[in-house]
Amino acid sequence: MSTTTLKGSCLCGAVKYEVTGEATRFFHCHCSRCRKATGTGHASNMFLQPGELKWLQGEDQVRSFKLPDAKRFTNTFCATCGGRLPRQAPGTDVVLVPAGSLDSDAPIKPQARIFTAWSAKWACSGDALPAYPELPT
Ligand SMILES: [Zn+2]
Ligand SMILES: [Zn+2]
Repeated sequence: MSTTTLKGSCLCGAVKYEVTGEATRFFHCHCSRCRKATGTGHASNMFLQPGELKWLQGEDQVRSFKLPDAKRFTNTFCATCGGRLPRQAPGTDVVLVPAGSLDSDAPIKPQARIFTAWSAKWACSGDALPAYPELPT
C-alpha cells in the first residue's frame, strides 16, 4: 500500500481539506448512527492509517458533534452547509474520510458493508461486497 494525498471539500465549498496517508479500509456503514448523520441508507467511510488531516481553508467553519453515549462516534461537518467532513480520531493516527466529500478519486474501492444488523430494510445492497452484522474481525 502506498501513501496518497487526497483533496476534498464541503457542499458549500467554505471548507477545503487535504488528507495524506495510506488508504487501508473503505466501508459502507449501515449503523443507525451513520444513517441519522447522513440521512441515507449508509455512510461510505474511507480510513487512512497512518493518516494526516490538514484544513486548507475554512477551519473556523468546522463543527463536531460527539454522541454523548458513544465511545467514538463523532459527526464532523461544515457550520454553513452541514456537509460532512473528515476527522482525525483523537489519540490515534487514523483519519476517517466521508468518501462523498472527496474531490479526488478514492484510491481504493469499498471493501464491505458493516453493521448490517442495523440496516434499514430499504438500504441498497445488491452487490458482491461481503456484509458483516457488526465490525469484521
Ligand atoms: Zn460548507
Ligand atoms: Zn456507522
